[in-house]
Amino acid sequence: MSEKQEMIRVDKLNKSFGDLHVLKDIDLTVRESDVVVLIGASGSGKSTLLRCLNFLEIKNSGEIIIENEQIELHTHNLNNVRQRVGMVFQHFNLFPHKTVLGNIIEAPTQVKDVKKEQAIKEGKELLDKVGLGDKYDVYPSTLSGGQKQRVAIARALAMKPDVMLFDEPTSALDPELVGEVLSTIKELAEEGMTMVVVTHEMGFAREVGDWVFYMHDGKIVEYGPPNELFDNPKEERTQAFLSSIL
Ligand code: ADP
Ligand code: MG
Repeated sequence: MSEKQEMIRVDKLNKSFGDLHVLKDIDLTVRESDVVVLIGASGSGKSTLLRCLNFLEIKNSGEIIIENEQIELHTHNLNNVRQRVGMVFQHFNLFPHKTVLGNIIEAPTQVKDVKKEQAIKEGKELLDKVGLGDKYDVYPSTLSGGQKQRVAIARALAMKPDVMLFDEPTSALDPELVGEVLSTIKELAEEGMTMVVVTHEMGFAREVGDWVFYMHDGKIVEYGPPNELFDNPKEERTQAFLSSIL
């Protein structure tokens, strides 16, 4: 395992919003093909951590190393880095005035200079892959939440990222639609996509996760393989959290 490439390494990451110290000395390593699941109560800093990894938020201190390159605001074009680290949000953020396929080809054609025909070909393949081969030309408003989220996943994949970040991808969905989105993410994981997933779906964490990190109050309290963390948590805080949700 140690020979697998480090895709993301975070070292003593700190982030504050004004006086609010939200991330406190976070250390985290994500290796190639790893599925890292982040769990923790609301407000513990999970979204802020993902947003720092995607440079939607800029850290105050610490190091963020993406594929062996230390990324800094003043040394890197963050738009280029963001192409390597795709993100899927709780609220799908699709462009309502574009068709499903239009949503998929937007970034490749606008940001990456992919030729339109090529983007369409690849976009259709991605939509087929997420089970939306019959929805190329419809508008997002006609889709269910689960379908919208699968479009959002395909849209992120269209940029060919090396790592995918998922921030509570099923939290906005009706319960009966959660499964189809988790299956899509699980398939990606099985194909070897490296990913960090914030979720409250503990069944998914256990089944698909290679590592589970428990965050509380801006710190990583404990991490381990899912079976160890869920069945034999070492820290009292982790035990208390798990017994409150399981
Ligand atoms: P989680 O995703 O675990 O629920 P967040 O990362 O969203 O936690 O939030 C962690 C803390 O940071 C919360 O107290 C939240 O209110 C605060 N916070 C998040 N984003 C901002 C922001 N842009 N400005 C000020 N405070 C923020
Ligand atoms: Mg959050």
